[in-house]
This record gives sequence, C-alpha cells and structure tokens, in this order.
Amino acid sequence: DERKVLQFQITLYGDDERLVMARDITRLHRLEEMRRDFVANVSHELRTPLTVLAGYIETYADAAGMLPPRLAQGLSRMREQTDRMQNLVNDLLLLSRLEIDQGGEDHVPLAMTSLLEEVRRDAEALSAGQQRIEVEVEEPRRLVGSDAEIHSALSNLASNAVRYTPEGTRITLRWRPHPKGACLEVEDDGEGIDPVHIPRLTERFYRVDKGRSSETGGTGLGLAIVKHVLLRHDASLEIESHPGEGALFRCVFPDDRLAPPQTTAG
Ligand code: ADP
Repeated sequence: DERKVLQFQITLYGDDERLVMARDITRLHRLEEMRRDFVANVSHELRTPLTVLAGYIETYADAAGMLPPRLAQGLSRMREQTDRMQNLVNDLLLLSRLEIDQGGEDHVPLAMTSLLEEVRRDAEALSAGQQRIEVEVEEPRRLVGSDAEIHSALSNLASNAVRYTPEGTRITLRWRPHPKGACLEVEDDGEGIDPVHIPRLTERFYRVDKGRSSETGGTGLGLAIVKHVLLRHDASLEIESHPGEGALFRCVFPDDRLAPPQTTAG
C-alpha cells in the first residue's frame, strides 16, 4: 500500500495570515499498525499454552491435600500467577481487537437495568460484602451498543471501584439523563485520586500506585479498554475525583446513540 499519511498543522495569525505545516507520518502510522498486530498475535498465541498450563495446575490443585506443605504453597503461587497472566493476555487481546477493527456489527438497544444488575452482581462477588453496591436507573431510553463491550467497560469501572476503595465504601452504578444524551456513571465515596494523575489514567499500564495495583489483581489495561469501548460508541469519558472525596467515572453517550424505551406488549 503506497498511500501516504500526512498530518497538517494550521496556525492562524490575525485575519489573513496562516502558516500551514505538513508532516509525513506514514512511517509512524505503519509502525503503529505493526505494533497493534504484533500485540494481537502474541496475545493470541499465548492463550493456548496458558490454558493448558492452567488446566494441569487445576488438576494438581485437586490433590493439593496430598502434597507436602511447601509444594502445596508453590502450587498455589503458580495458580495465582497463571491467573494473572491469563487476565493480562485476555485484556491485551481485547484491547488490540478494540483498536484494530471498527466495530458496530453487534450494536443493538441494550436492556440497561439488567445490564447494570449483572455488573452489580459480579462486583458484589468481588467485593465479598466489603462495600455497598447500588444500581440507579433514571433514564428510560436504551443505549444502542455492543452488549459485550459495554458490559466489559462497565465491569472494569465497577471492579476498580471495588478494588481501590476501603471497606464500607458505597458504590453506585447509574444510567441517567445528561444534557448531551445519557450517561453511565460509576461513583464511589472512597479515597479518590489526585487530579494530577487523571489525564493519564487511560494510558496502557498507567497506575497511580504500582505496588497496590498488582496486589489488587489489576492488569493496568482496564481504563484503556474503557476508553476504546467508548470511542467505538461515540462516547466520552469524564473523570472527577479529589483525594478523600471519592471518584466519579462518567461515560457520556450522545442522543443519536439512544433508542426509545422498550414497550411491553399487552
Ligand atoms: P489497573 O489494572 O491498575 O486497575 P486501570 O487502568 O483499571 O488499571 O486503572 C488505572 C489506575 O487508576 C489504577 O491503578 C488506580 O490507581 C486508579 N483508579 C482507578 N479507579 C479508581 C477508583 N475508583 N478509585 C481510586 N483509584 C482508581
């Protein structure tokens, strides 16, 4: 493919003077494509051997009671680490798929209440009773989107709210009207985030506190996934947080992404 990719920068000076600069970014663009394909291929190839490994580890774990304590301990570490690797590989694969293809084939009006309830149940299982998780649906219209993608974006936000807040925190998952259309919100009254970190949170592997994040089982890709899912739904992400005042993640969907409420027959 011989097409060139150019980037233009136009600077206006007063009323009638402008400076136009063109930069040939063809090479950069190709490199970026190669990086994406490479990550997608590697993560795909790593999946099978990891599944085999995890399968054997599970088999041995069933017999862990017969092992000397030192070996049983090693086995449980192996299990943790393969789990972590599987999460990482799955997230990498998901992210590169979100970056590579356009999406949109599986967009349908979503049943918002059951979607939010489902995410709440999973978050509750992760929280194991440590936090209080609530669902509020105040917008009757339905979001038109990919069930799998919106589900994964919302679960990432909800599981972050569980993992990065202390016991006793209140977490709310919301679908509500917004001046531009409607929004999905995940709000917590936990420890919050220093605003200096906010602009970089959606970068791959960016973490406020590296040690804490791997401890809590994060891959560092959660918010990057959220950002890409939203891009594919013409939506934007707003993050509001202050230390000690909790955090609010708001996904704003424009009007033309909304379908009328479902009418029940009879
Ligand atoms: P990770 O796998 O590290 O959770 P994410 O991209 O999902 O990766 O999140 C990036 C960082 O944002 C986290 O490491 C954490 O420091 C911060 N973060 C995300 N959600 C919250 C929250 N609700 N409260 C406080 N910090 C958060």
